[in-house]
Amino acid sequence: MPADNLAPVPREPVLLVVSGPSGSGKDSLVDALRAAEPKLAYSVSATTRPSRPGEVEGQHYWFLERTEFERRRASGEFLETRDYAGHLYGTPRKPIEDALAAGRDLVMKPEVNGAMSIKIIYPQAVLVFLTVPSAAILRERLEQRRTESPETIEARVAIAAREADAIGNYEYLIVNDDFDAALEKLRAVLIAERLKIARVRGRSALDGSS
Ligand code: 5GP
Repeated sequence: MPADNLAPVPREPVLLVVSGPSGSGKDSLVDALRAAEPKLAYSVSATTRPSRPGEVEGQHYWFLERTEFERRRASGEFLETRDYAGHLYGTPRKPIEDALAAGRDLVMKPEVNGAMSIKIIYPQAVLVFLTVPSAAILRERLEQRRTESPETIEARVAIAAREADAIGNYEYLIVNDDFDAALEKLRAVLIAERLKIARVRGRSALDGSS
């Protein structure tokens, strides 16, 4: 083997897609992952949902009026959009394309249908499903959050039950019964994915198109 072959090779970035029901702790977990991995890019979604206390425009979401959301959707600014519990959510296209083109690993957290769309567009995306030990725990966490009405909580618990059917489409499952352990597992997935030989060889080796 020539000595040149031993030099470090640039690798394809990891596109980490984390889904999980509302109340699964996904937001806190992804925040903690980003704190632990400062170079990890994050896809800030757009939504028509009103902001919750403490949520910051451009940091947690881009909060848009429905007409503005629809205008952007019509002009192709989103990679995917979904209606979730009566509000629209969408993944802005450009920041993802830019991060991946620059070779940056990126994390995003769409619901399950959005994750499936992302997987079709980017077959190399790594899909992680986050869940909690029981529906009762999910309901309890949503109630503790005190940001949702009882109707919204019921709607979100019902969506969670449907979403669980999609687990088979994911590559990794993390049960969030202990926050630190769940974070360690999520980070382990990211680290292991970075090390895949296929990622060093290039995208074609990852998506099977070679
Ligand atoms: P929440 O209102 O609790 O912030 O989000 C509701 C659901 O929408 C969550 O499951 C969240 O992951 C998902 N979501 C957030 N942004 C997007 C997005 O851009 N696309 C899709 N498909 N789902 C999203």
